[in-house]
Amino acid sequence: MELFDAHIHYSQDAWPQYSPERAVEILRAAGIRKALVSSTPDSGTQRLYAVAPDLVVPMLRPYRSRDDIGAWTRDPTVVAYVQGTFRRGVHRGIGEFHIVPGDSATPVVRALVALAIREDLWLHAHADEHAVAELARSDRQAKVLWAHAGLSSTPDAVRAVLDAHPNVVAELALRGDVMLGQTIDPAWRDLFLRHPDRFMVGTDTWVPSRWTDVVSGHERTRAWLAQLPPEVAARIASGNAERLFATPR
Ligand SMILES: [Zn+2]
Repeated sequence: MELFDAHIHYSQDAWPQYSPERAVEILRAAGIRKALVSSTPDSGTQRLYAVAPDLVVPMLRPYRSRDDIGAWTRDPTVVAYVQGTFRRGVHRGIGEFHIVPGDSATPVVRALVALAIREDLWLHAHADEHAVAELARSDRQAKVLWAHAGLSSTPDAVRAVLDAHPNVVAELALRGDVMLGQTIDPAWRDLFLRHPDRFMVGTDTWVPSRWTDVVSGHERTRAWLAQLPPEVAARIASGNAERLFATPR
């Protein structure tokens, strides 16, 4: 089963160990047909996109360096950076970025939400259930991809967000709790059946060492997908992301 991985980074610290060619080789070896790719800085994404335009769907992070991760929502120079770096017809979204409750009211985040709506871009947000709800509510036209489905948010909390906010979809990078041992968690299974069009798979190569886990991680992804009705599994594996992110623009 081919996958659309909604959470890959090719950031500066990975470049010495993994050439763009090698990184693409790893993604293909994991059975990834397409991937949302972002990086700190954006040039990593562009190098990967140059090698595999059929595979890479570029996303633009608001981070020029790792130092931006903690303070970017209070730094107005980030807006000019994103506006100046954004390439229409290339970048499919803004992110992945990190927000906490309160951040969606800042002028910086509001400016990026406005840009995203104007350019029909996704907002890939690493946030807890409160912060993602604030982002979704800040403008109902905003299209939000919820990174890691909140990372530690419970299936109940994820369900509440998806029920309340039709403009949010979620990816499951680093969600080891979807499968308990070799069996899919019943609460997650119920949630996938309730919202079969709102989930997708992901990895998150946030540090270079994660590149060694891409192939084995997706063996595990396939093990829980196989415990879903085939039609639902196909949507979560690639159908949803294909529909939402790879539409020709
Ligand atoms: Zn990430």
